[in-house]
Amino acid sequence: MNLCRFADNRLGLIEGDHVKDVTVALDCLPAARYPLPGHDPMIAHLPEVCAAIAKIAPNANALPLADSALLSPIANPGKIIAAPVNYKKHLDEARSDPELHHQNQVAEIQRVGLFLKANSSLVGPSEGIEVRLPDRRTDHEIELAAIIGKRADRVTRETAIEHIAAYCIGLDITTRGPEERSLRKSSDGYTVLGPWLVMAEDLPDPGHLDFELKVNGATRQKANTRDLIIDIADLIVFASMFYTLMPGDVLLTGTPEGVGPIKAGDTIDAEIAGIGAMQVKVR
Ligand code: MN
Repeated sequence: MNLCRFADNRLGLIEGDHVKDVTVALDCLPAARYPLPGHDPMIAHLPEVCAAIAKIAPNANALPLADSALLSPIANPGKIIAAPVNYKKHLDEARSDPELHHQNQVAEIQRVGLFLKANSSLVGPSEGIEVRLPDRRTDHEIELAAIIGKRADRVTRETAIEHIAAYCIGLDITTRGPEERSLRKSSDGYTVLGPWLVMAEDLPDPGHLDFELKVNGATRQKANTRDLIIDIADLIVFASMFYTLMPGDVLLTGTPEGVGPIKAGDTIDAEIAGIGAMQVKVR
């Protein structure tokens, strides 16, 4: 079951080149009351939502996917966690290119740990990316994004992967410069998630996925998740040592070599095997 959010906050079930409007399935979510929960309610209640979708999908209205403006498939994550330099060849390129390291020491992920991106940076593919600081170098980074499905507090490697509900493509857009990552990577629109959620049970081997990013049709990044320095299970162990992971939390697993600049007018095509492809415009 591949789920998207589209148009004016509609919930969609992907079926081939169509999307079925299954928004009414969200009626099973508890009514919101202040203070709002610190997690994403749809992911926290995903089994109920999926059961409701299965019931209504046969009679749901189907729209052409090509005409459906895709939003981030996660609306309200509690936090967006990201892994820096988690591919060996990207570590090498970051250390050798002054435009990437800006005199910062580029430490291994084991030493530097993880960082957080502002939730306000989150958009979907149809919203595009507005370059916030056009005088600064702004780069694309494609990453496998894992969506946490259940509370994970100091979990072990043996159970870590069970805490993932779904996967999607992530773009970690980055202003290069000397500031902290959380500042440079948190501008509005600098976290793109899409095109939809693929349920974890439908992606049994997330550690061996080919993925590729093109800018204006030219390949910039092409890698496989088998080359992660810290794999997905150990990223969850690492993150949950420091804070509790909640349903809907987003884990961006790191980008491989080939990062490069984007500018207004560019078109990014991002694809991960087993998930899908999305196109994102830069303005
Ligand atoms: Mn990144």
